[in-house]
Order: sequence, then C-alpha cells, then structure tokens
Amino acid sequence: MSAYNTFIIGAGFTGLGAGLASGFKIFEATDKPGGICASYRKEGFRFEIGGGHWIFGGDKFILDLINKFSKCKRYFRKSAVFFTGNLEETKKLKFKFIDYPIQNNLYALGDKIASQVLKEILLNKKSYISNDITMEEWLKINFGQTLFSIFFAPFHERYTAGLYKEIAPQDPYKTPFDIKSVIDGALGNPNKSVGYNVSFIYPEDGLDSLAWEIAKLCNTQYESKLEKIDIETKTLILSDGKDIKFDFLISTLPLNKLLKITGISNEEEPYTSVLVLNMGVELPDNKISKHGFHWLYVPDSLSGFHRVGYYSNVDPTFLPERLRNPEKYGSLYIEFAFRGGEKPSDEDLREIIEKTEDELREYGLIKKCLVVDPTWIEVAYTWRKPRSNWLEKSLDKLAEKNIFSIGRYGRWSFQGIAESLKEGIWVGSVLKLKNS
Ligand SMILES: Cc1cc2nc3c(=O)[nH]c(=O)nc-3n(C[C@H](O)[C@H](O)[C@H](O)COP(=O)(O)OP(=O)(O)OC[C@H]3O[C@@H](n4cnc5c(N)ncnc54)[C@H](O)[C@@H]3O)c2cc1C
Repeated sequence: MSAYNTFIIGAGFTGLGAGLASGFKIFEATDKPGGICASYRKEGFRFEIGGGHWIFGGDKFILDLINKFSKCKRYFRKSAVFFTGNLEETKKLKFKFIDYPIQNNLYALGDKIASQVLKEILLNKKSYISNDITMEEWLKINFGQTLFSIFFAPFHERYTAGLYKEIAPQDPYKTPFDIKSVIDGALGNPNKSVGYNVSFIYPEDGLDSLAWEIAKLCNTQYESKLEKIDIETKTLILSDGKDIKFDFLISTLPLNKLLKITGISNEEEPYTSVLVLNMGVELPDNKISKHGFHWLYVPDSLSGFHRVGYYSNVDPTFLPERLRNPEKYGSLYIEFAFRGGEKPSDEDLREIIEKTEDELREYGLIKKCLVVDPTWIEVAYTWRKPRSNWLEKSLDKLAEKNIFSIGRYGRWSFQGIAESLKEGIWVGSVLKLKNS
C-alpha cells in the first residue's frame, strides 16, 4: 500500500522509465506506448513517426537494459553535409559530400576555402559558449564569416526555422568546437569520433518493439488524455471526465503545455515543430545516389528541408522484403522545421511533397517515389532566449506543487532516448522511495 497517490503522465520513453522503476500508473493520451519513438510499416517500408531515431549515448547500465528488452545492433555513424549548390555562397560546392562535422573536415572544401576558414577561426581565438548571446553570434564567433555563410547560416535558417538569430546557442556537443580537431581536419587528418552520435544502437525488431516490451511491465491506462490539473485541490482532470486526486505527479508533457493546463503560466520559450516526410523510393543507377551515408545535412535545399536520412542505409530491413536491395531502393526520412504554431495546411503539405520529390530527383538522389507518408511532431526542438530564466522558474513553481516535469520536453532540453529512459528510471525510483 502506497503512502501517497503518485501518477505519471505520458508513456514515451521517459514515462515508461518512470513506470518501470516505480509501478505508478501512467496515463497516456494515445493507444500505444513510445511517444514520438515508434516505428510502423507502410507498403512494406519501415518508417518512424519522428524520422530516424537511433539510440546514441547512454551508459552501460542503460544500454544493457535496452538490450535486455529488445536485442539491438550497433552501427557506426556515416553522416555528411551535402551541398546542392543552390545558393551563391554554395555554388562552387555543388554536389559535394563533406563528412560531419564540417568544421573538422575543412580539407574537403578545397585548399582556398579551407585556408580562409582556418585563418578566420584562428584569428578569432574567442571560442566560448555563453547564454548572453544568440546562436547566430556564437556560430560567427567560433567558426568565422566564411564557414558561417557557406554552411552554418543557411543550415540553421532551415533547422531552426530562422530562430537562430533570436535564441541562445545550443548545447555545444551538437556543434562541437575543438581547435585541434579543426586544424587536423584542415590538414586532411580528420578525427572521426567527434559529436554526440559517433555510434548508436537500434533494436533488430524496430523501435516500437522496445517500447512495447517495457510497457508490458508498466501499468498504463491508454487513451486517457490529461486535460487539466487543478493545482489547488491537486486534481487531475482526464479526457473521460474522471477526476483523480494526486499527491505527486511526474509529467513528461512539453513544459509549455504543462504550464498552461495547470494555469501557472501562458509564457513560453520558442520551439520548433518538425515535419517528417517518410518516403519509399526507387534509386537511380548513378554514383550520387550510392553515397551510403546514414543521413545528410543539407544547408541549401530549395524546398526547405535540412536533413535527408536513409533508414535503409543503416539497415536494409527498413525495406520491404521484395525490394531488399539498398543499392536500388531506399527508405528515407526528410525533415523540415517550422516555428511553433505554424503548421502547414493540407494544400501547403501537398506542395512541399511535390517540390521535395522534384528536388531530390533533380539531384539524382531518387528516381521514383513509391510511397510517401508525412508525420508531424508539434514540439520537436526546444530553445531558450539569451539570459532567460523561464525554465528554472517554471520547474520550481511546479515542484512547489509536487509536480515534477521531466524528459526532453518536460525539461525543455536536448536529450535522446537513452537519457530520457534513464531520467525516468531515476525520478521514478526516487518517488517510489518517498512513497514507501
Ligand atoms: C526530429 C527528432 C529526431 C530525434 N532523433 C533522435 C535520435 O536519433 N536518437 C535519440 O535517442 N533521440 C532522438 N530524438 C529525441 C527523442 O525523440 C526523445 O528523447 C524522446 O522521444 C523523449 O521521450 P519522452 O517520453 O520524454 O517524450 P515523448 O516521446 O514526446 O512522450 C510523451 C508522451 O506523452 C503523451 N502525452 C502527450 N500529451 C498528453 C496528455 N495531455 N495526456 C496524456 N499523455 C500525453 C504522448 O502521447 C507521448 O506518448 C529526436 C527527437 C526529434 C524531435
């Protein structure tokens, strides 16, 4: 018998971790676990709701646990920047693939550009990360005007939907800066093991197999959306009209939404939504389409995408059995960012799909689109304004009411599946101890 009534909101990987460790009841709005990390099949192609979700990072404890629930394979990242040459600044780099991260592979830009970029970086000598400046300023200070114009500005224009001019710099491990690696890369000896996702694991039976296996040990009530929280009477109001009293609450909802349904605040920090076009394609018989990368960062697309991922270059099982030849067919995910609240209409979406197909065909990256399935993640990337204390203030106000907002969206931070699961397990364990 528990001393307190404690509940969890959301059965994504954070909520599942908390449910697994504590046994507390989870209320989940949809009819399945996994949140935005769910794979599905369409006409035999395996896709994911949120685009390729490769499990990176994680310590031995959490990786062993994941493997116990669903056997995973390990892969070594193959990613690159791909220039279409559509912009004045990128014309000379048309159809070049430059290994990620570009700042550590300057040699591939050619001697002239590489030496100019290196000169600017060395002259700057001001590498720092600070919450006082914008991401735009940070990128210019660290990487110099040339690399900023060629890659960082157009890429971040697409990836942050233009917000990079207003928001604080992102966690530096997404855009790593290390002067020795920059110099080695300019001299043609790039350090291959840089960045947060050098290697990753992925379940052999798909990502949703992992969510379902963990969910078997959790007590989840599906199709129970939390509509409102009365923080004075400590009551949850669910979509079926039921009122439930709580003493402690673990919420994995996006923090801005949680603040609204508690009535604590309507204030929010910027966020971006992501449109994923999952595409099953036939590939042309040319060199460019056989690049073999797992994903490409594209700074200068015309239709606005910033990343083209190849599920089937990670593992051919993403292709239907009858088409299981990654040299001839591809299972792709193509990502676009939109500012929070700016969802494209159905008509806009049709236009985006058409333009994207044409663009990829023009570059020789696809021959024919066999199936396309768009998905939408409302709160995908969360950002902060320089000098803002909104996050700390909000988490404190919620904690005063015994509401713990956790996970990538609950804490408005950048983190992957392994960390989310671990955070859930940790918070679930602590509250279970409190409950006993
Ligand atoms: C485009 C993109 C690419 C990514 N790529 C990777 C990657 O390659 N590798 C990686 O490790 N991570 C990746 N991530 C991060 C990863 O998706 C997150 O770390 C993880 O999904 C966080 O899980 P969560 O449980 O906190 O949130 P979510 O998955 O969002 O789960 C929240 C749950 O709450 C439920 N819910 C929402 N509202 C309510 C309500 N009112 N009442 C009840 N339930 C509700 C939702 O249905 C959902 O099930 C990526 C994220 C994005 C956006």
